[in-house]
Amino acid sequence: MQGGREEVGQRSETVRRANLSAIVRELHLRGPLSRSELVARTGLTRSTIRALIVELAAGDLVAEEAAVRLGTPGRPSPLVRLNADTGVVLALEIAIDSLAVAIVGPGGVVHELERVDRPRGHSSLEDVVADLVELANRARSRRPAGEMPSRVAVAVAAIVSRTDGIVRFAPNLGWVDVPLGDRLIEALALPVPVEVDNESDLGALAEFRRGAARGADDVLYVHGEVGVGGGIIVDGRPLDGIGGYGGEIGHMPVNPAGRPCRCGSIGCWETEVGEGALLVLAGYPLDGGREAVDQVLADAAAGRPAALAAIDTVGRWLGIGLAGLVNILNPRRVVLGGLFSRIHPLVADRVDESLDRFALAAPRRLVSVVPSTLGMDAPLLGAAEMAFEPLLADPAAWLGPRSALTQLVSA
Ligand SMILES: [Zn+2]
Repeated sequence: MQGGREEVGQRSETVRRANLSAIVRELHLRGPLSRSELVARTGLTRSTIRALIVELAAGDLVAEEAAVRLGTPGRPSPLVRLNADTGVVLALEIAIDSLAVAIVGPGGVVHELERVDRPRGHSSLEDVVADLVELANRARSRRPAGEMPSRVAVAVAAIVSRTDGIVRFAPNLGWVDVPLGDRLIEALALPVPVEVDNESDLGALAEFRRGAARGADDVLYVHGEVGVGGGIIVDGRPLDGIGGYGGEIGHMPVNPAGRPCRCGSIGCWETEVGEGALLVLAGYPLDGGREAVDQVLADAAAGRPAALAAIDTVGRWLGIGLAGLVNILNPRRVVLGGLFSRIHPLVADRVDESLDRFALAAPRRLVSVVPSTLGMDAPLLGAAEMAFEPLLADPAAWLGPRSALTQLVSA
């Protein structure tokens, strides 16, 4: 019966791993919880929770705080919280106008965050990697000596092959088939994996977990800059297609009589709602950049008609594209990021009108359109969330083999 006993052992090990994951995930997403709340949220018994918390605490992943009264009868319950200094991750971002770094601890605790300007134009891989490494080293130098991130993740405005970290196409950087992941692994010289993903996919993840889309399981995140990117969450999971290239909503054809797009096509959605469209409509050069965008927004705030009309037209096209996407995806929430969150107060009515007019009534009724709450840091914080995933999925791998103590407690 040796085989049978081994099978039972493996099954109980699988259950233990799943239970540890459930506890750590709840604490990561919701913050400190009492044992009773953990019982309620995970469906595990009180004694199982107690045993697993002992194990997580022994591995320095959680700590229990002094008991607090929750207004319920009975003994006060101590609060369990993740140790924000154990298993930190390093997040990096290559945005249109900036580079950024963050060191984030479990629970989404941001220990370090720095963003520096990056001049636009075709930057070489070597320059960008060197700048990112300098930023990362500076952030790490402000943390306790010897701290090692458990993973590194990078958000980039590009079509990215996530399995090998190759940037397939980044029009703003002038990159085609560039091995960003491998170069960063070499240059950072850290003995940990480096993942690369699209900034809008990561923005969606961050808004879903910690921002404007919390509590909604079906989410469309729309990021507007020079280009327009999308991140889609369906039933709580990212939808990114077989190559991870999905969500390129900026290249939806909407106007065959429109302007040429950077992708080689004509009249893509981003040619009607992207930064270039706004600038041209407002009477600025197409490549005016961030200063020109700031000027258009200042003009609009001052009530200048040309700027208000330009923003109004962009709002109308934004609503038209969103109507099609709402019909296809039936999301609970649409989160507008980047440029779109900046113009949201000025275009909200226009977008709603377009949705009323062009979307099907049933999905239209269920969706709300809101601005990002994480702002320009959404993709960076999303990179951190992606980097936490292995820890959340299997904290037991962090703890190592089952300790004798736990066997004793759970027996
Ligand atoms: Zn296009």
